[in-house]
Amino acid sequence: MKETLLEVKNLKTFFTLKSDKIGGTPDVVKAVNDLTFDVRKGEILGIVGESGCGKSTLGKTIMRLNHKTDGEVLYDGSDIFDLEKKELKAFRKQMQMVFQDPFSSLNPRKKVGDLLAQPLKIHGMTDKAEIDTKINQIMEEVGINPAYKGRFPHQFSGGQRQRIGIARALMLNPEFIICDEAVSALDVSIQAQVINLLLDLHDKYKFTYIFIAHDLAVVEFISTRILVMYLGKIVETADKNELVEQHLHPYTQALFNAFPVTDPKGREKKEQVVMGDVPSPINPPSGCHFHPRCPHAMDICKQEYPPLKEVSPGHRVACWLHK
Ligand code: SF4
Repeated sequence: MKETLLEVKNLKTFFTLKSDKIGGTPDVVKAVNDLTFDVRKGEILGIVGESGCGKSTLGKTIMRLNHKTDGEVLYDGSDIFDLEKKELKAFRKQMQMVFQDPFSSLNPRKKVGDLLAQPLKIHGMTDKAEIDTKINQIMEEVGINPAYKGRFPHQFSGGQRQRIGIARALMLNPEFIICDEAVSALDVSIQAQVINLLLDLHDKYKFTYIFIAHDLAVVEFISTRILVMYLGKIVETADKNELVEQHLHPYTQALFNAFPVTDPKGREKKEQVVMGDVPSPINPPSGCHFHPRCPHAMDICKQEYPPLKEVSPGHRVACWLHK
């Protein structure tokens, strides 16, 4: 078993919304609700679920870009929420994030070379020649001609901009990268190129990734282990191969059934999507939050939330069908 790099313990991130009524009780969104899992050194943990299930909030909380309501996020044994300013700066060097929309995450007024130099300068590198050499090396690494470093973000295509987003994440030689819907805004053919780039970098530098996406086919392709989220909770997690062979939670089954026609593994075409809409996270259904959409719902499902139980080594499921 690989060494654990990140441990998330009983993590909660809740947001309190202002009430519409004077003196009314504010609503609370439980975006991340009591999650416990770990990430091992060098693995690619895919986190999948429909929009609004809390996966991006989870990624940002792990990076300490969001507050936590409770729980712990231990990186190499230290809780990132206990880090002082100086330690937090060192942590940010180790752990980087690639966002969905490279256009809004890259300052449109800055040239690409300046955008890439920024993290190095923040972390104390002052030698201009050294900075320039690093920029050239990383631009080549991500497949962008270093001669283009004088261009602005809008002068690149969407796929190239995402490569620049990845380049910026690589500038500080991180060991852990969170990709938050990093390919979701791209065309399918460009998606494949960016995913292959991420996999090549993983092979070369042995990065640890958390790869967040709503598209199970993409997550299945890139990940070594998968965690399925629904309304702020983990409903199933297992090694990728195990989950592909045996997806036990009805929500995971529905996601697999919703695979598009171009399934890379040649599985039969299936067009069924998850029935119904995702309920509001403000007031999720009682018991198992999935029960209004579940074809197997029983009485107990409406009353009690099922515990996340290990059904075989490393395979955990939260469903009363698998007690
Ligand atoms: Fe369906 Fe019940 Fe399992 Fe929830 S606990 S997924 S409602 S069978």
